[in-house]
Amino acid sequence: MGPKGEGPFFEEELMKGLLDKIGIPIHCSECGHQTRKPIRWVQSNQELICSGCKISIDLGTNEDTRVLKKLHNALDRIDMSSRN
Ligand SMILES: [Zn+2]
Repeated sequence: MGPKGEGPFFEEELMKGLLDKIGIPIHCSECGHQTRKPIRWVQSNQELICSGCKISIDLGTNEDTRVLKKLHNALDRIDMSSRN
């Protein structure tokens, strides 16, 4: 109860669900092997071991995930400013 509507809460739950459901393909720069991981997994991990050649893929510099992590940082800032 109170002035806070259920809109933001619903959107947050929806976002969480999507983060778990939507997978993005991550390409290994060494062998080109593609591994699909949920967005949430990408955001909470720093590296991925390629199942093709077993090297460690840095998710912070990988072409496929770099943009996603940048986007996540931007979303964090937007989220924080809307709480005040
Ligand atoms: Zn590989």
